[in-house]
Amino acid sequence: MSIYQTIREAAFEANMKLPRLGLVLFTFGNVSAADRDKGVFAIKPSGVPYELLSPAKMVIVDFDGKTVEGDLRPSSDTLTHAVLYKHWEHIGAIVHTHSTYATAWCQSQRSIPIYGTTHADHCTVHIPCAPPMEDHMIAGDYEYQTGFQIIQCMEKQGLSYQEVEMMLVGNHAPFTWGIDTDKAVYNSAVLESIAKMAYLTEQIRADAPHLKDSLIKKHFERKHGPGSYYGQ
Ligand SMILES: [Zn+2]
Repeated sequence: MSIYQTIREAAFEANMKLPRLGLVLFTFGNVSAADRDKGVFAIKPSGVPYELLSPAKMVIVDFDGKTVEGDLRPSSDTLTHAVLYKHWEHIGAIVHTHSTYATAWCQSQRSIPIYGTTHADHCTVHIPCAPPMEDHMIAGDYEYQTGFQIIQCMEKQGLSYQEVEMMLVGNHAPFTWGIDTDKAVYNSAVLESIAKMAYLTEQIRADAPHLKDSLIKKHFERKHGPGSYYGQ
């Protein structure tokens, strides 16, 4: 058995959740799971249909994107995952999908305004949208540069990756992350739901007001603050 069995299984199970949650079509999308002690992550192989995946087919890659164990080519987005793991030392999993509503906001190059308490329960700011990649970034190491685009957008907006665990990449699609695969996949599903609600809100009322500060604070702290009282 591989010494990376735990992350192979975590990555496999998380990848299999994406089609079940309606977040991916065909082979779109990928989840990775990191083992910080070993300095590696497990990621979906490139272009293999979900029904043919297994823990053994996951590819083990280091934080520079070099394959450490596995016969298949890793996901084409591997270098984006590697850059994020290398720079953000407290994340344990990353999810990338082309889920419909979140991707529509990316294609519109708009951050998702905070319109309601569902949004505020998970994130106290507009969901950030990084600008589309510049030509020199696209022509060079495109996937590697996508990671930097995400990091720079967070930094420019003064956001912490431990507080805001979701990001839109302009003209492309969303990335989410978290402490483990459960949280990163959860964030991906939540983002899609927030994206859909925000879209519908603007259809019903184009000038819908943003959520007021008192409600943002109340809802976020119910779930996250030291005095949180949501759940058991
Ligand atoms: Zn993509």
